Amino acid sequence: MMSNAKERLIIVAESNLDIAQNITHYLADHGFSNLQIAQDTSSVYETLRPYYRHPEKVGILIISEHLPECRIADMCKALAGAQDAYTVPMIILGTQYKQSLEYESDTLLDRAQANGLIYHLELPLNKAELLMAIHFQLAIKRERRLRYMNEELLTNELAERKVVDAKLKYLIAHDELTGLLNRQNFERHLWIILKRNKKLPKNGALLYIDIDRFSLINELEGYKVGDRLIVEVVTAIRMLVNKTYSFTRIGSDEFCLYLDNQSADDTHQFAEKIRKALDEFRFFVDDVVYNSTVSIGIASLLQNDKTIYHPSDLISRARQACRMAKENGRNMVWEYNDTDSGVLERQHDVYWAPLIRKALIDARFFLVFQPVIDLHSERISHYEVLLRMKGKDDNETISPTIFIPVAERMGLIHSVDLWVVENAIDYLAALPDFMAHVSLAVNLSSVAFQDKSLFYLIKDKLKMTWVDAGRLMFEITETAAVDNFEQTRNMILQIRALGCKFALDDFGAGFCSFNYLKKFPVDYIKIDGQFIQNLINDETDQVLVRSIVEIAAKLGKKTIAEFVQSPDVVAKLQEIGVDLAQGYIFGKPEKTLQASNVISIYRLMQNAQMND
Ligand code: C2E
Ligand code: CA
Ligand code: CA
Repeated sequence: MMSNAKERLIIVAESNLDIAQNITHYLADHGFSNLQIAQDTSSVYETLRPYYRHPEKVGILIISEHLPECRIADMCKALAGAQDAYTVPMIILGTQYKQSLEYESDTLLDRAQANGLIYHLELPLNKAELLMAIHFQLAIKRERRLRYMNEELLTNELAERKVVDAKLKYLIAHDELTGLLNRQNFERHLWIILKRNKKLPKNGALLYIDIDRFSLINELEGYKVGDRLIVEVVTAIRMLVNKTYSFTRIGSDEFCLYLDNQSADDTHQFAEKIRKALDEFRFFVDDVVYNSTVSIGIASLLQNDKTIYHPSDLISRARQACRMAKENGRNMVWEYNDTDSGVLERQHDVYWAPLIRKALIDARFFLVFQPVIDLHSERISHYEVLLRMKGKDDNETISPTIFIPVAERMGLIHSVDLWVVENAIDYLAALPDFMAHVSLAVNLSSVAFQDKSLFYLIKDKLKMTWVDAGRLMFEITETAAVDNFEQTRNMILQIRALGCKFALDDFGAGFCSFNYLKKFPVDYIKIDGQFIQNLINDETDQVLVRSIVEIAAKLGKKTIAEFVQSPDVVAKLQEIGVDLAQGYIFGKPEKTLQASNVISIYRLMQNAQMND
């Protein structure tokens, strides 16, 4: 087993003996037993010599940047092992070395920095912070070595007590994991800048940095590895950052960096530098290597005509620009621009998301029903349930084409799905006995099956209300079904086992894969409206609809045509052999149902035309 970390050699390289002793005494008080002072560069080498064959016994070099005749890059070379696992980490005391590093390009040094082997502490020294840094470096070093030695212990190491303890002691103003400013402090800082700016406008910019595909690594490797990635990314960025910039962790994998008094060009170049550094950065998890990139959004203070009054305005703009960077392919720098269409979309989302949340709570959603006709019996088969939202005044109705995409992007769609299912079942339960034949088709989004909550809701609700499961059908789009094939398939099987039916919606709108059709356990195929609208005049559409009908018949599934708007189309569909149809010709979505299902399609068509 490995020796106790506190027994490893710690060298304090500092020419001023008082300062050096002050540090060693402090560390001795905290249990470190092998402490040596070196007052110049050659004594550092001298001290290290006996350990030449036992690099694992060397812990850390704490080095002042003022150490006579010392070039950090050379020292780094001297301390480098064949593997990072054997490289001695350094804690550098002082602020100036960074500027010099800008000119000292050295691959070994770069690598050490990128791998977090160099830690930087400002003067005057905060000893608690030093202790934290030592624990942190030793833990990282130990973890690297464990990884190198392929020991299983590895994964839990970083989060192990020591590191956590050390981090907890760190100032409250900082983010626990990364040691960066926390959001509150950061915003306070921005307040001051914004206030000052009102009197004396100066340029400055906010960078919003987001780790690309962080959630993927978090999911694949677990949150502890995710935490380590965050720490390593922060370390890599820190190496490039001037101490006068304020740097904060604003979300789990999102960071903000405020650059004071910088021109737009400089800001862009600097952001590019960060992006590039991380593009070259590699993250190791056992023997898997990840290339972990970042997307960066920039919001400048003076660039925008609208004055920014609040820190959150600036942060929100930079975040929007960052989203644009992500949407345009990630690993990219993007400057905020008022007219970006993506930004407009975000504004749309930001406007609608709270209204959706409110609608869920305050019963501002309601359901409408559109009849679906059985073309063989020429009677109503069932109704499709469609969602509506009440507008500002209660008479205004908002279309789902406005709020459903927002709900999808903003993570609200799952709640919306649950709401619709619950209310549709309640609706069935409340119908009078003479309407007990009525059944409903409910639309589900692509994320409906991401967990089992919907399944349990359906099951429990049906049980509680005594509604027959056969009266409930679900429509799921082809794209959604294909997206998450196995999971969706399993869930459909389970819900069908309860007795509910399924339809594949918008068939043909995506990639129209007959291949999937075979494997999907659905009862109905809903042919997308775009193939129906011009059915009479468009021969290609006719061919397509015919072949869908043929294949569906072979697979034992029924077909539904949507967007049926004229009697000619009804006749054509009957000729082709489509089983069911829906469209304005039979009726628009209404708040109430037809009182009778024996009403013929001709009466329906007449009624619909009269209502037009
Ligand atoms: P969808 O599932 O394809 O629903 C059919 C849409 O076509 C409905 O629009 C319906 O009103 C409209 N429609 C039906 N017949 C005709 C016709 O003959 N002519 C024309 N021009 N339109 C017709 P709506 O209600 O605006 O819904 C739009 C989409 O929003 C739906 O497309 C569906 O994807 C989504 N949606 C609606 N309600 C819900 C819901 O409760 N949950 C979820 N997840 N999505 C919903
Ligand atoms: Ca539908
Ligand atoms: Ca559809």
